Amino acid sequence: KVKAVRCEGCGVPVQTESPEQKGYIPEKALEREVILCQRCFRIRHYGDLGAVEQDPEAYLRVLDEIAATDSLVVLVVDLFDFAGSWIPGFSRRIGKNPVLLVANKVDLFPKTANWKRLRDWVSASAREMGVHPVDTLLCSSAKGLKIPDVMQAMEHYREGRDIYIVGTTNVGKSTLINRLLREAGGTQDEMITTSPYPGTTLDTIRIPLEDGKEIIDTPGIVRKDRISEWVDPKELKIVVPNAVLRPKVYQLNDGQTLFFGGLARLDYVQGTRQPFVTYMSNRLYVHRTKLAQADEIWQKHRGELLAPPKDPAAIPPLTKHVITLSGKEKEDIVIAGLGWVACGKEKARVELWVPEGIQVSTRAAII
Ligand code: GDP
Repeated sequence: KVKAVRCEGCGVPVQTESPEQKGYIPEKALEREVILCQRCFRIRHYGDLGAVEQDPEAYLRVLDEIAATDSLVVLVVDLFDFAGSWIPGFSRRIGKNPVLLVANKVDLFPKTANWKRLRDWVSASAREMGVHPVDTLLCSSAKGLKIPDVMQAMEHYREGRDIYIVGTTNVGKSTLINRLLREAGGTQDEMITTSPYPGTTLDTIRIPLEDGKEIIDTPGIVRKDRISEWVDPKELKIVVPNAVLRPKVYQLNDGQTLFFGGLARLDYVQGTRQPFVTYMSNRLYVHRTKLAQADEIWQKHRGELLAPPKDPAAIPPLTKHVITLSGKEKEDIVIAGLGWVACGKEKARVELWVPEGIQVSTRAAII
């Protein structure tokens, strides 16, 4: 059981001295049955988030410590935001420890998606990133899909060792741990705080296993090259999908533009008529217009019709990425933290505008 001196939400040791530091709990709140730091209490009851800085360097040091242990590393990635799920220098940092790859949020994929193909794509991409998992599993922590398989694989591959859970923020590590606890017969009090805000789990949480070993949940590294990291917490619900993606099909001629809220913009500059299919949160408004009018509409309606962001000044200015589609295979244009656009099979030139520093990539179509 998580010790009472630690916050039962985020695992941080609680303190009653400094309200602005992490783990703060008002003296009186110590009498409550469930010990939650003020921050977790607020998140749980009001959906509020106090800003606590995350230090990527500190997280990388946690990974370096893993290299010195003999353990199983469970790398959790987000199938929806796959590009944003990778940790810089991951394999080098964790040393010789075996990696079990758990690809979360499979519930977001439409029924038409082929799970076997998805899984093959996940393991192939991992290998490309220099990660050679002992096994790859798809699951949904939120919906409880394939959780027993994940548990079994963890037990099988750990061979009596500790387990580290690692990943970038927001991939669903906390939700997964909660699921595992529930599956193992835990109680409500043991639930860790999960929230749609990036980087909610602050410190490592240790969950004892029967043989004296532990599951160690690490806080996760923030990657600022994902759009979701820049969106105001209040607007994040619009950007981060919570239900099966309903792809939207746009048959575009060149000279047409799609706006993805006020966050990104796709200009179809050159090519023949073909479909562009968006796989993004169903709540995100996609607006189609003529390229010739795009600038004017953007300037006039950004922050209102074209939102989020309500406050465009809060995110970096847009920069242009020129993308050439070869026409040899169907390709996805991926915007980290936002989703992707599945393109047709025609040669094309696309200009994609995203906030500066946001990762853009292309890949062979996954659906
Ligand atoms: P962490 O930062 O990796 O610990 O991520 P959290 O567990 O806090 O989850 C981040 C966000 O992803 C929250 O909004 C969760 O509700 C959501 N989430 C977690 N697991 C799943 C899942 O299996 N499917 C979907 N659709 N959303 C999930």
